[in-house]
Formats: sequence, structure tokens, C-alpha cells
Amino acid sequence: MAATNIEVWQLGTVVEVRNVATDIQRIVIEPSRPKKAEPGSHIDVMVNIDGHEDKRSYSIVESSEDGTRLAISVLKAPLSRGGSLFIHTLEPGDQLEITQPLQNFPLRVGAGRYILLAGVSASRP
Ligand SMILES: Cc1cc2nc3c(=O)[nH]c(=O)nc-3n(C[C@H](O)[C@H](O)[C@H](O)COP(=O)(O)OP(=O)(O)OC[C@H]3O[C@@H](n4cnc5c(N)ncnc54)[C@H](O)[C@@H]3O)c2cc1C
Repeated sequence: MAATNIEVWQLGTVVEVRNVATDIQRIVIEPSRPKKAEPGSHIDVMVNIDGHEDKRSYSIVESSEDGTRLAISVLKAPLSRGGSLFIHTLEPGDQLEITQPLQNFPLRVGAGRYILLAGVSASRP
């Protein structure tokens, strides 16, 4: 089925957490209702900030073919209201509410051309 931006919420179980760069954690989540993740898709995640729920979006950086394992990488944002800080507290076994993969910018089949950009910011001492 094509990727969509209709939110279908489900439970996700954190199965792996590791640092991949300064202030960036890679988190692998097993969704309760897996769905194949198309390239460029993301999930929305309910974060708990001082007892209040809020929603943050995270790109899917790796997925198993059937969508049973989704990896996200999250920067601990400076001046954060708390969303990325919450994500950085997650440990294997934790459960959280996530959406099935969402796609706000689907590639249109038949477009004359596509331009794909990727970027990384790095600072050197
Ligand atoms: C489609 C999508 C995909 C994303 N993918 C990723 C991803 O793969 N990895 C990732 O780390 N993040 C990703 N994000 C960003 C992520 O959703 C969060 O915004 C991020 O984690 C910061 O959340 P926070 O609550 O920690 O910080 P926030 O409190 O949201 O703060 C983030 C920044 O915004 C500034 N800010 C906060 N409030 C305001 C305001 N009212 N006015 C102006 N500036 C303000 C803060 O000063 C800070 O610099 C994605 C966002 C979208 C929309």
C-alpha cells in the first residue's frame, strides 16, 4: 500500500538504543501493527514533557522489509522544550505511542524529474 499521511496510532516497543554520534541516539522500535516503510517516510511519536503529551516527528533511517523494525536517529536538540530529551531517556523494553509510517512528501510517479537532497552539519574543534 502507498505511504500515507493519515495517522494510525499503535504501540511501539523499544528494542535497541545506541549512541551513533555526539548527542544523537539511534533507537530501534518494533511496532505492534507493522507496515512497510517507504523511503522518505517518518513516524510521529508521543513524547511526555513534564507530564504532558506532545507529538514529534522522526524520519525512519532504516527499516526491515516488512516494517517490523523501524530505526530513528534523534538529535538532542539544544534549547529543547523536551521532546528530544524524552526520546533520549528511552531504554530497551520501553513502550511508546507511534504512528504507522507517514509520508508528507510522496514522490509522484511520472514526474519529469526528481531532486533529492541530503545534508549533515558537522562542527570541528
Ligand atoms: C517530518 C519530520 C522529520 C523529522 N525527523 C527528525 C529526525 O530524523 N531526527 C531528529 O532529531 N529530528 C527530526 N525532526 C524534528 C523533531 O520532530 C523535533 O522537532 C526535534 O526532536 C526537537 O524537538 P524538541 O521537543 O526536543 O525541541 P523543540 O522544543 O521543538 O525545539 C527545537 C528547536 O526549535 C526552537 N523552538 C522551539 N519553540 C520555538 C518557537 N515557538 N519559536 C521558534 N523556535 C522555537 C528551539 O529553540 C530549538 O532550537 C523531524 C521533524 C519533522 C517535521
